[in-house]
Amino acid sequence: MAKKIQHRLFIEDSLPGSGILSLGQEQSHYLANVMRANVGTAVALFNGKDGEWAAEVIVVKKREVTLKVNEKIREQTAEPDLWLAFAPIKKARLDFMAQKATELGVSHMIPVYTRRTIVDRVKTDRLRANAVEAAEQCERLNVPTSDEPVKLEKLLADWPEDRMIMFCDEDLSGDSAHTALEKADRKENPKPWAIIIGPEGGFDDDERRMIRAHKNTVVVSLGPRVLRADTAAMAAISLWQSALGDW
Ligand code: SAM
Repeated sequence: MAKKIQHRLFIEDSLPGSGILSLGQEQSHYLANVMRANVGTAVALFNGKDGEWAAEVIVVKKREVTLKVNEKIREQTAEPDLWLAFAPIKKARLDFMAQKATELGVSHMIPVYTRRTIVDRVKTDRLRANAVEAAEQCERLNVPTSDEPVKLEKLLADWPEDRMIMFCDEDLSGDSAHTALEKADRKENPKPWAIIIGPEGGFDDDERRMIRAHKNTVVVSLGPRVLRADTAAMAAISLWQSALGDW
């Protein structure tokens, strides 16, 4: 009888690899000192490619925990192909956005500098760490990737030919999101999509025109109230998942 999994860890190594895995200092500290794991503790491992494997702690040293990799318990699955392009916001709410976007199934995150973006630097390693922690908690089998911040003009200039844009425009002129998405695509075999969310100060008129002019853009409203950027991102992802994703 397989032991009840007590912790899930994202690792960069291949699975099952050699069958014996020594964790790095950070994950060893987390398991041994924070989660008080000991010999015999059951852990699930995933790396975004090889599915999920059951493992157990076999050695606990001060700075290193060693695991024995046992059997595969889940086949690898992919998340829907949904990017989130967002104007970065202040640290605490950016952590929140990265965690919730991961739980809601986003596959890729792109911080976008717009003219009213108030943040001039994004700690992408922090974005990644929040995404890993959320992926471990929500039992995803992969972690959303993320890019370095990019200016809106460049993002649109280099936009992938086949990727649709769900443009959340707070000027409320768009169709309701569900209607707009169902008109633009089919749940059975959706195209690749991206959601674009502006900064706390919103998009300026030039930016609004630029995004609307893109041939892949579908303008949507997220209802009659003006949502904060992180709230808008969560609402938009939920609406997309319900209309075209895996909900
Ligand atoms: N300009 C306003 C302001 O300064 O309060 C609102 C900006 S809003 C806080 C940030 C972003 O969330 C917007 O750029 C838009 O992408 C999205 N958003 C917020 N409410 C929305 C709504 N009701 N419909 C569509 N998008 C919305």
